[in-house]
Amino acid sequence: MSAATLPSIAFRVFLPLLLGAAVVAPAQARLRVFACEPEWGSLVHELAGDKVDVDVATSALQDVHVIEAKPSLIAKLRAADLLVCTGAELEVGWLPQLIRQSGNTKVASGPGAFMAAMQVKTLEKPTALDRANGDVHPDGNPHVQLDPRRVLVIAQRLDARLAQLDPANAAVYQQRLADFSGRWTAAMKRWQAQAAPLRGRKVVVHHISWVYLWDWLGIQQIGALEPKPGVPPTSAHLSGLIATTKASNTLAIINAAYQDPKPAEWLSGRTGVPAVTLPYTVGGDAQSKDLFGLFDSTIAKLLGAAK
Ligand SMILES: [Zn+2]
Repeated sequence: MSAATLPSIAFRVFLPLLLGAAVVAPAQARLRVFACEPEWGSLVHELAGDKVDVDVATSALQDVHVIEAKPSLIAKLRAADLLVCTGAELEVGWLPQLIRQSGNTKVASGPGAFMAAMQVKTLEKPTALDRANGDVHPDGNPHVQLDPRRVLVIAQRLDARLAQLDPANAAVYQQRLADFSGRWTAAMKRWQAQAAPLRGRKVVVHHISWVYLWDWLGIQQIGALEPKPGVPPTSAHLSGLIATTKASNTLAIINAAYQDPKPAEWLSGRTGVPAVTLPYTVGGDAQSKDLFGLFDSTIAKLLGAAK
């Protein structure tokens, strides 16, 4: 081949490639993810890194059962390709309205709507009889993020969804899932070893948002300040709770970073059992910068109460 023919070969080979690249570029714009809660924003970050843009709708200091459908959230949802939320009716008070107002049918159902609790077996799934008693979630307890075993299953499913919606980066998602799974599995072993002294211990909670954590760690919940979500306790309930808490060598009275600590402190004052605030999700305290920090902190705080 002579030097003179090179430019024309280069032109013939590269020009179509360049044109092709220009045509496909819009389809390769980064996937936009709308995460309802910080734990799912954090998980998306683990799995996708800088391959996606993530908007996290709420913070660890907000009660995600009751979020205001603000215009800023509607705007973010309008631009989203994928919604990553808890589901199981956790966001029933605000998300359907947000989706409707965004007019974004992509995230209303189908591949663009990923519900974490729907990927795993939920606990406290009510029977028909329970449902007759009123305010219960038909899909079970939605607070699945506090069981790292379920988080791993959710990570696998979410990774597959990312690859489905953004096939150009499928290999990246696959590699990042493998990396995350390795680190997560090792961390789970560490957490379980650390938490061994907590097995069989009893706790009282503010709201029933911890059942998955107790299930994983073998901790027993013996009462709740708020026996039904959002329903204030009666005085008969509270006096019964004082007696149970006192009589059970209770480890701690647990509330979440977003909750008013006063009810837990009130019960602590009457029983001598320590009130412990747990982060509940990513951002709930200084140590909970990501999902790993969330469990590091949660276990350290429970162990602190056991001392
Ligand atoms: Zn709840």
